[in-house]
Amino acid sequence: MDTGYQTLVLNRIWQPVNVVGVERAFSLLSLDHAQVIYAEDESFRVFNSLAWFDFCRETEALKGARIIHTVSQQVIVPSVLLLRSYDRILLQEMKFNRQNLLERDDYRCQYCGKSFAPKELNMDHVLPKDRGGGTSWENVVTSCIRCNSKKSNRLPREAGMRLLNEPKRPARRPFVSSLYGRPVEKTWEHFLQAKK
Ligand SMILES: [Zn+2]
Repeated sequence: MDTGYQTLVLNRIWQPVNVVGVERAFSLLSLDHAQVIYAEDESFRVFNSLAWFDFCRETEALKGARIIHTVSQQVIVPSVLLLRSYDRILLQEMKFNRQNLLERDDYRCQYCGKSFAPKELNMDHVLPKDRGGGTSWENVVTSCIRCNSKKSNRLPREAGMRLLNEPKRPARRPFVSSLYGRPVEKTWEHFLQAKK
């Protein structure tokens, strides 16, 4: 179910801690790990899972909202969820993939330090693959095409290059900073500003 809809997740003291997709959002809701925060007339209403499904059955708010269809009814994908259980549910390790790597390295080539558009960036194995280098947080960095081909099949020092940062596994998803400068939903703004 990849609708592209995203839901902001707040911890119990209403601070943003994550952004999740639709499936995760509804699983948190139906397991009763989270409640829906719904913005209405300058204030917020909080719903548990059952109340939310009831609300979606009756409300006018369905119009123009982001909706998914379940077997029995239409449901609004919550824009914001409030966790009621421990935060660790969401403090998962950040998965190693290209997108997360670019975020870790802030879309900067880790050799020349310049910023690039995603499509102009490569994933560089610090210790080259064919010399036993793994594909992991600790051995892969973001690199521009030019630095990548200059370094070629060598270690940075063999190529006379230096890494800006030692590659490490990020502690957790730096989700809030990754949202800055990006268009976010109107209902999120309130909570993201509160964080600053
Ligand atoms: Zn570069």
